[in-house]
Order: sequence, then C-alpha cells, then structure tokens
Amino acid sequence: ARPRVVVVGGGAGGATAARYIAKDSDGAIDVTLIEPSRAYYTCFFSNLYLGGFREIDSLAHSYGTLAADYGINVVHDWAVGVDRDAKTVALAGGASLPYDRLILSPGIDFVDGSVAGWDLSAQNAMPHAYKGGSQTELLKAQVMAMPEGGTFAMVAPPNPYRCPPGPYERVSMVAHLLKEVNPTAKILIADPKEAFSKQGLFEEGWATHYPGMIERVGPEMGGADISVDPQAMTLTIDGEATPVDVCNVIPAMKAGRIAEIAGVTDGNWAPVNAADLSSKIDPSIHVLGDSAAQGDMPKSGFSANSQAKVCANAVRGALTGSTVFPARFSNTCWSLIDTDDGVKVGATYEATEEKIARVDGFISQTGESAELRAATYQESIGWYDGITADMFG
Ligand code: FAD
Repeated sequence: ARPRVVVVGGGAGGATAARYIAKDSDGAIDVTLIEPSRAYYTCFFSNLYLGGFREIDSLAHSYGTLAADYGINVVHDWAVGVDRDAKTVALAGGASLPYDRLILSPGIDFVDGSVAGWDLSAQNAMPHAYKGGSQTELLKAQVMAMPEGGTFAMVAPPNPYRCPPGPYERVSMVAHLLKEVNPTAKILIADPKEAFSKQGLFEEGWATHYPGMIERVGPEMGGADISVDPQAMTLTIDGEATPVDVCNVIPAMKAGRIAEIAGVTDGNWAPVNAADLSSKIDPSIHVLGDSAAQGDMPKSGFSANSQAKVCANAVRGALTGSTVFPARFSNTCWSLIDTDDGVKVGATYEATEEKIARVDGFISQTGESAELRAATYQESIGWYDGITADMFG
C-alpha cells in the first residue's frame, strides 16, 4: 500500500504541503487534505480589501485544482481528534483516517479571557477580523456605517501573533478609507506592546498621510490595562471608558485547537524541530505555520509556505527515500500605508539543532522615494499572485 499523509488545514501551510508532496511524489504517496471550508479567504491582502484596493472575491481560493490536477483527496470536514498510538485522525463527520505522517497547519485560535469583557460570542459586535472571510467583511461594513466624526478603536494583540505588521497595516487602510468617506473620524489603538513591527515606517506614513487621525496608547499610558463592553460599545483604558463606534478586538493567540487536542503543544504553541518541522513531542506529526514554535520566523503566510516546502521535502524523503535538501527558509512581509506607499521587511533563515535561526534580513527605510515605495507595492501584488498559485495550484 502507498504511504499515507494526512494534512489538517487547507491554508497557507497545509495547502502548500499537500500540493508539494502530491506533485513531487508523482502518486507514490496517498495525500488527504482536511479543511472545513470550500473556499479559503486569505488574511493576507484582507487589509487591502478594507482600504478599497481589492475586492473580497479576489481573496478567495478553492480546492478544485488540488483535487483534479494533483490527485489530493480533499475532505471538507473538521478534524476533531488524533489517536497518536493508532495513528488515526477522527473527523466531525464520524470518519477515522489512518496516517503514516500527519501534518497539522490549523492556524490560530484565541486565548480565552485575554481581553476583559470579550469572548467569541461578542465577535459580531466587536469583530477580530483575524481569520479570513466573513469577519473581514463585517469589519468593513461597520467602518462604512460609522457616524461622521466617529471613533474606530483597535485592541492590538500581545506577541507572538500572526502577521506582526498586520494590525498597523489595518490601521493604515482604515485611515485611508475614512479619509475618503469620513475625514473627521478618529482611530484609537490600545496596544500592550512597547514597540511594533515597522513602527518607524508606519508612524512616518501616518504623520504624512493621516495627520491628527491616529492615536496609539502604548503600555506606558495604560494600553495593556484595558477592557471592553460590547453592549455599551465602550473601550476602557486605565479605568477610563471611551465610547467607540467600531471596536476591532484582536485577542492574544495560540495554536489552532487541534494541535492541543493532538497533544503536541507546550503552552500556547507546538514546538518543532527546524530541519523538518516535526513535532518535538511526536516525530510522526509535523506542525507548520502559525501553530508552530519554530524559532525566529514571524507567523506569516510566506513563512508557512516556506516551512511547508521544507516539510514536504523531508516527509517525502522519509516515506519514499527521495533526496532531502538542507532546510532553507525565507519570509517577506509587505504592508501598504496609503496608495502606492508600500513597505517591506524580510529575512532568510536556516535550520540549526535548536531552532529556525535568522541568517540575514532587510527592511524599507524612512524617507524613501515615491518611486521606490510604488515599486515595493507592485512587488507585493506579484507576490500575492505567485504565492497563492504555489498554495492552491
Ligand atoms: P491558515 O492559513 O489560517 O490555515 C489554517 C486552516 O486550517 C484554515 O483554513 C482552517 O479552516 C483550517 N483548520 C483549523 N482547524 C482545523 C481542524 N480542526 N480541522 C480541519 N481544518 C482546520 N501573511 C503574509 O505572509 N503576508 C501578509 O501580508 C499577511 N497579512 C495578513 C493580514 C492580516 C490581517 C492577517 C490576520 C494575517 C496576515 N498574514 C499575512 C498572516 C497569514 O494569514 C498567516 O500567517 C497564515 O495564514 C498562516 O498559515 P497557516 O497554514 O498556519 O494557517
């Protein structure tokens, strides 16, 4: 019988891993991909949808090509259990799937109680929009419905979380939209972090494009001591309640719940070996993307895709004896601050005994020319098209 690989999660990491294992093994490995959604809406570029630079449909990707062209058995269901002794995955629909290798790339879930007053039952009143699709559409509809001169509030997450520049790109895109439709509106960020990704670049851009619109309250001013009231629509910072019109609550994050159910987490995340993304707890299980505690890579779609290719190569080697190449990883996170004002940060990485370790990096500089910023934005559009084709075929 052919060796069996089961992949849980058809997002950035899981779709890439499934595709590369199926493509490169030429039918020698039986690949099953478990994913509840029929369409995957990328979080990457969802901020551009908020800003009016993309249509929501342009963020959706389906699994037809993975099934038809790569022979992947795509199962639309939830994985609800993992029996590590029997090496089987239980699905919500009742099926049990055996595996030789299990790859988990379930993204993130939220840490219960991390924002006082908020839980998942409040996500309609105060959306997180930190998983793709309907939450993103809801947040945009709420911004569009803000009263003239109203307040958009964001509760920013503590480290580590997916897409370090994501909340700040979102602020930029909401500001871009408000400047057009509601120019006297204000943006208030409560932030538990001292500093954030590309801070100098964002602050320069906000001062240039959106002067006076954005206020960030860091931990020294009480930004870590907050609560929300979704009924009253208030954000309380350091004991002082402010009425807000939209409240984007981005809670603390942890590995997707199935990683915890499988017993491969230690605390909030799943520790893995850098060379093949295998779990430090169970060598038959690999954990990719946001869920993995892997070392120096930020949690991003680019990182998940890069890790998935290394993992796919190692899994094929282990199951069929094919050549395994030394692990190399890379990541770039682009952000759009305003029309044609794109910035980026990125690095390359290698596998050490201990972790995925950063080798070398680069970051956009303040004061760059408009031409360079426009070229950086164009580069990000090419990246989106390329990477989604690399994931979904
Ligand atoms: P995901 O892509 O989230 O995939 C997880 C999948 O697993 C989901 O489809 C889910 O349905 C499925 N799943 C979960 N549990 C189960 C289960 N029990 N059974 C079956 N399936 C399950 N990254 C970038 O590289 N560039 C960017 O510009 C960028 N911008 C971002 C902007 C925002 C606003 C956000 C929120 C994120 C952004 N990211 C960006 C980060 C990127 O989206 C994530 O890091 C990436 O999607 C992680 O991939 P993943 O495979 O770990 O998880």
